Amino acid sequence: MKNPFDLTGRTALVTGGNQGLGKAFARSLAEAGASVVIAARNAERNRAVMGEFAADGITVNAITADITDAADIERMVTETIEAADRIDILVNNAGTCIHNPAFDVTEQEWDDVFNLNVKALWRTTRAVGEHMVKIGGGSVVNIGSMSGFIVNRPQWQPAYNASKAAVHHLTKSLAVEWAPLNIRVNAVAPGYVKTEMSPVDQPEFQRYWVEDTPQQRVALPEEIAPSVVFLASDAASFITGTVLSADGGYTAV
Ligand code: NDP
Repeated sequence: MKNPFDLTGRTALVTGGNQGLGKAFARSLAEAGASVVIAARNAERNRAVMGEFAADGITVNAITADITDAADIERMVTETIEAADRIDILVNNAGTCIHNPAFDVTEQEWDDVFNLNVKALWRTTRAVGEHMVKIGGGSVVNIGSMSGFIVNRPQWQPAYNASKAAVHHLTKSLAVEWAPLNIRVNAVAPGYVKTEMSPVDQPEFQRYWVEDTPQQRVALPEEIAPSVVFLASDAASFITGTVLSADGGYTAV
């Protein structure tokens, strides 16, 4: 029987794949057999990740792109198709979080969060979606967050929380609309994960971030990656419009 998690012959585009969660997603997708392209702004970090993977026998391509720029999205999609022939899997991972209480959030901060977390994801998904229609289908995995369900403490991050709730509902909206096109759209909603974005080791966060998590710890990016592989693969062939929580039980409390 064919392994339904096997991604051999598929091509995956991972936005923001040069550190943190995106890097783990790129590695796991490649290990599952996919041909992987990462896209992020920092060319040096892109190259470093390619080198690190190559040392482990994993080949990925990298495209330098700022996905808050519409022209860069177009170029990223064109270059990915040129490099890898097709895009079967899109992982919308690039995201940003700004901590600030509601009365202090500036227009710029609100726009920065929404432009990347929602608008860039929307534009990228539409551009790749058009291509997926042409090749007969595909699988989109959006990286949401448990912050789309709960309100994190003790720090305040209203724009981020609202942006991730938007990602979750956009996931459902596109899943229903595009199901007849053979495009599945799902999301993963991680809890606290140790990455460059997330200051999980700072003592002031232990009480809320670690002790409030039923598993009493944060995750490593490698623990979230298999959920992305699962949703991207044929193992999830009858799953669309779902938001899969990977949060150590946080949202179950
Ligand atoms: P990081 O900040 O560590 O990584 C963000 C990635 O996105 C980097 O590769 C960065 O590369 C890229 N990126 C940022 N801005 C842009 C842009 N404009 N265009 C293209 N790429 C960009 O974040 P995490 O790995 O922690 O988070 C990844 C995703 O997971 C995000 O969507 C986040 O909201 C979500 N998440 C994270 C959690 C956590 O605890 N860490 C919990 C729940 C969800 P570069 O700077 O080179 O562009």
